[in-house]
Amino acid sequence: MSAAAVTAARRLAQTGEPRRLDWRRRQLTGIREMLTEDADRLTEALEADLGKSPAQSQLTEMGVVVSEIDHMLKHLESWAAPKRLGVPTFLRPAKARLRPQPLGVVLIISPWNYPVQLCLSPLVGALAAGNTAVVKPSEVAPHTSEALAELLPRHTSPDAVQVVEGGVEETTELLEQRFDHIIYTGNGHVGRIVMRAAAEHLTPVTLELGGKTPTWFDDDENLEAAARRIAWTKFTNAGQTCVAPDYVLTTHDRVQPLTDALEKACRQMYGRDPQASADYGRIVDEKHFDRLSAALEEHTAPNRAGAGAAVAFGGHHDREQRYFAPTVVHSPAPRRGPQGLDLTAGPRGDDALMCQEIFGPVLPIVPVESPEDAVELIRSGEKPLALYVYSDSDETRELFEEETSSGGVVHDAGLIQAGAVTIPFGGVGESGMGAYHGEASFRRFSHYKPVVEKPYTPDTLAFAMPPLGRIKRGLLRKLM
Ligand code: NAD
Repeated sequence: MSAAAVTAARRLAQTGEPRRLDWRRRQLTGIREMLTEDADRLTEALEADLGKSPAQSQLTEMGVVVSEIDHMLKHLESWAAPKRLGVPTFLRPAKARLRPQPLGVVLIISPWNYPVQLCLSPLVGALAAGNTAVVKPSEVAPHTSEALAELLPRHTSPDAVQVVEGGVEETTELLEQRFDHIIYTGNGHVGRIVMRAAAEHLTPVTLELGGKTPTWFDDDENLEAAARRIAWTKFTNAGQTCVAPDYVLTTHDRVQPLTDALEKACRQMYGRDPQASADYGRIVDEKHFDRLSAALEEHTAPNRAGAGAAVAFGGHHDREQRYFAPTVVHSPAPRRGPQGLDLTAGPRGDDALMCQEIFGPVLPIVPVESPEDAVELIRSGEKPLALYVYSDSDETRELFEEETSSGGVVHDAGLIQAGAVTIPFGGVGESGMGAYHGEASFRRFSHYKPVVEKPYTPDTLAFAMPPLGRIKRGLLRKLM
């Protein structure tokens, strides 16, 4: 199945048809139509997989892709046009330009947490750049995977988009095939598997991974507004967002006021019983539910050496409904390890909540002495996908921007960078490689081929040809 899908996508790429701008526009318009005409089908699938309400799905899934498509349709012609390049003196007279060309066939492997957006955003980039695509939606969101497999071929040209459903076995088989680019969104363990498989064919890869996104808070003036934004960014999609704040760093004296403000914000958004709120999602499956409840239990177990962590609010969970309440935890102050202050140093070294990306609605607040200590702590871990800073001090903002490395930084908000068509989105180090969205997507899935034209007259190249006597050597030295 996978070999046949790749062959069909490659055959179409080789006809040259996908290079035509009208072909590309047709694919984008087709997917746009799918997102409106078949919105109900997608909404139902998202509801079944993640308990997303239609409004949440519109905002965080379909709406993001529609704005990406509209931006691409608007700029496609100018992005696809050759760009004039300068020519150095020794080559003149000559003309040079950069001509963007499709790569061929792009493989898109997508995850379950935003299963529509994270499948279609890379797809529309690949198609806008004139490629054909093979798409592998996540089996962990099976209803959405099935809906995409049914709808995408109906709304795009024959063979343009091949959808291969399945899990590890099917993906492994796919990865044995030759592609011209692979974009993988998911965890770093599988990211390494993808990269190893791609190396066999020298296929370039984009890895959109995750990690522990830190949030700094010290803005007392805007305590309530900041808490509303932190709560919104953390608890949207029940915390299952790659750029959700993973934990909050703040000074000891701010822990309780921030907790109170977060609790109030949760009540405003989801009412007294978030389980009854249409806007609050569900954990994707039992495996992830069990992982989260074990991590919370372990972190707050009273009998652990170096204990001191406690649930500040929330904590309730219901396996049958895969419901996990918005939860804030007071975590102990970090200890000093060989790399400096470290979340995982000391007796809690194997504590899942501190060692791994939480990827659920549990928000630890970790007290530190100062923003400098927070920077030290962030630098002792892997480079995160995002960093959020809520501070009214320019000095503190600059400190975090300059002294830490992350996929991106947002001041006074979160999440918004991921849906903005003009802002490249991607990680660095352990959080990934390569950015996409908007023009960055077009660039990612294109080869910028330099084309040079050199006239015969005047024949300046004759100066570079032997015999290289004294006069020619002198001239070349001057020109170069
Ligand atoms: P997942 O389990 O759905 O896996 C992603 C894809 O990898 C799926 O299509 C799956 O079939 C495939 N896969 C799984 N095991 C494989 C194997 N052994 N070989 C080949 N393919 C395999 O998703 P996940 O990894 O649980 O996603 C969550 C992670 O993704 C988090 O770390 C999150 O931060 C990250 N994420 C990153 C972004 C981003 O844009 N940077 C977006 C969403 C999620």
